[in-house]
Formats: sequence, C-alpha cells, structure tokens
Amino acid sequence: MLKLDFHPAGRHFLQIPGPSPVPDRILRAVSYPTIDHRGPEFGALGLQVLSGIKKIFKTEQPVVIYPASGTGAWEAALTNTLSPGDHVVMYETGHFATLWKKMAEALGLKTEFLGLPGIEGWRRGVQAQMIEERLRQDTTHQIKAVCVVHNETSTGVTSNIAAVRQAIDAAGHPALLMVDTISGLASADYRHDEWGVDVTVSGSQKGLMLPPGISFNAVSQKAIAASKTAKLPKAFWGWEDIIAMNATGYWPYTPSTNLLFGLAEALDMIMGEGLDNTFARHQRLADACRQAVKAWGLEIQCVDTEAYSPVLTGVMMPEGIDADAVRKIIYQNFDMSLGAGLGKMKGKMFRIGHLGEANDLTLMATLTGCEMGLQLAGVKLAGSGVQAAMTALMRNKSPERMVA
Ligand code: PLP
Repeated sequence: MLKLDFHPAGRHFLQIPGPSPVPDRILRAVSYPTIDHRGPEFGALGLQVLSGIKKIFKTEQPVVIYPASGTGAWEAALTNTLSPGDHVVMYETGHFATLWKKMAEALGLKTEFLGLPGIEGWRRGVQAQMIEERLRQDTTHQIKAVCVVHNETSTGVTSNIAAVRQAIDAAGHPALLMVDTISGLASADYRHDEWGVDVTVSGSQKGLMLPPGISFNAVSQKAIAASKTAKLPKAFWGWEDIIAMNATGYWPYTPSTNLLFGLAEALDMIMGEGLDNTFARHQRLADACRQAVKAWGLEIQCVDTEAYSPVLTGVMMPEGIDADAVRKIIYQNFDMSLGAGLGKMKGKMFRIGHLGEANDLTLMATLTGCEMGLQLAGVKLAGSGVQAAMTALMRNKSPERMVA
C-alpha cells in the first residue's frame, strides 16, 4: 500500500492550477473494471467520448485523444504539421510558452519568440498586433506556424485567441495557428472552430477534472492537409491512423481505458452544469480570489484586467519574502498545496488554483489557509482577504445555487 502518512485527517487541499481535485463521481468511474479495448462495449465508449469532447472544444472537426500528458500533445501538434527547419513564431507569455518553444527547437524547428521585454511579457496576454506586424514582414511566407498559450498556467494570464486569429488574417498570412489551452479548456470559454484554430492542445488534469494521463489535439482540415506533407518524424503521435480508427470508436493501440470512463463522466458533469454556467462559476470564483489578494494588499501577477485568468490567480510576494517558504508553511500547517512560481517567477509568487471541482466554500477554505499562512510567514497584510472574498461572493450570488 502507498504510505500517505503526511495527510493525517480530512482531505488534502490540492489548490495548484492542475492537476485539480478529481470529483468522487469521476474517481468512481475511473475505478470501473478495465474492459477489452477491442470489444463492443469499448467501441461505444470511444464514440461517446470522441463526440462529447468536441462540444468542449466547440468544434465539428476531429479531436485526437492521446494516452499521454499535455507535453505529448504539444509534440503531436508540431510533428504532425511541420517539417525540419520550418520557421515557427511563438509568443512568450510565461514558463509554459517557453517550454513549448524549447521543445520546438529540440525537434529541429527554427523558432522565433515574440513578446514584451523582461517580466512585463509575463504579466500581460499575447499582444496580437506584434504577431500581425511580424507576419506582414514575412512576404515570402517562410513562417509556417504561430503558437500561443491561451491560459498561461505559470502566471494566471489569459490571451485573446480571436484577436490572434484576426491578426493572422489581417496580415493575409497562411501560417497555421496552434493554441495550447491545456489549463484553459472547460474553465475558460474556448472556440476552436469559430476562432479558426488549426491545432488546439489540451490535457485532462485541469478543467476536465480528470487525473493526469490523457491529452488532446483538436485539428482543422487545414492542419490535416498540412499533416500529409509534414516531414518531422512521427509514429505514436501520427493523426492519420488514430483518426481513421476513431471512426468506429477504437484506437490503433491500447488507449487509457479507465481515464476514458472518467472522461465520459466528466463530460456528463460539465454538460449537466452547462458550459456557460461552468465558465461563469470560474469567473465568479476568480473574481472573489482577486478581491482577497487586493484586500491583503498584495499584487496580482496579471496586470491587465481583460486578461485575468478564470483558472488561477498569481500572487506576488513583497520584496524580501520567499514565496516558496510561504507555500511550505501553508503545506505543513494546513495540508494545502499551492502552485510555485516557475521560471523567471521562481520564489517571487505563488499560484492559487480555482478550477474544475471548485465552489464557494472550497475557495473560502483555500483563501483562509493562504491568509493564515501569510501571517505565519510574517507577511504584513493590509486587511482580510477572506472577508473581501466573502463579500464578493455574496455580491455576485450564483443564481442557481443561492437562495436569499
Ligand atoms: N502547457 C500548459 C499551459 C500547462 O499548464 C502544462 C502543465 O501544467 C503543460 C503545457 C504541460 O502539460 P503536462 O504537464 O500535462 O505534460
């Protein structure tokens, strides 16, 4: 048996911005006995999840489901559509955009990073006009793809993907648009077809509330056409065989059967709540969280109110306070995990996840743990964030949940 003697009583508060807490309904579904992935029952499950997931991406196009983490789906997006030496424009919103670029380089692509200088670029979303200007200069269409992160999990900044699409169109450029919404999907509104995205990359362990282990490529017909001539080596990630077999609900290899049971349950839960209600719940909790941070007198990492993430809030520490030491105090005293500052933000901030299986009281407990921990760490707070969040939640009552 796994020894979990460091979680003595009650539930651990997993308030990192993914993996997010897995609801009991999903845990139960994942625990169903594994079935034959070539048998008739599986085919029905496959068709159910392949069709259901399209509603979450808001697409009529194929969505490929990999038994892999999000990083695998990043690789799949690049290797299916591009050839060695292809020029790719990426945009630096934070740590995950940086990792995706590193991967593109490792795969033999020629990358170019756009973005605002220094830390400023990590506090705002994609500046679409920079993409437009760059593409206008590329009159011979050497740039084959534009890659952006929709919800930058390292910062709590969301980018306007429709504006990126408009920028590419305004420049009259044929580059593919690839978007990472690994932490945005099912928490923030996302429209693969309407926004003209060619490959959308996502994962299971965030808004979909599943354990880690499956990831996605939603593709466009233009991306599929590109995959016919793309020369980067691919085998496991190749769309062609998967999409062909998915037509009957099967995979060319053994899929993550039990996580797909969980996915069917997650889709049921999300569609039961309604996608718009799910997004509104995330916005409301995120707003209350930000009110708490402001009342503490601390700075929110994201400085553009239009780009505030509904998924997580990045909290900057005052000069001289080590954010990792604060996180450690909170973990040891209150059994709660918060996200660390990553890359350029290491030690300077922590991240509060408020995604997936989250409601008013899980947020309030989270903020209470933060407030107590900040005080234990000697951070001078301007006021009670807990009180401010309660006031915000009461002001923005959730219509279907609250009875006055
Ligand atoms: N992109 C973003 C925005 C992420 O948040 C993450 C993980 O947190 C990844 C990519 C990498 O995904 P994974 O850790 O599932 O491989």
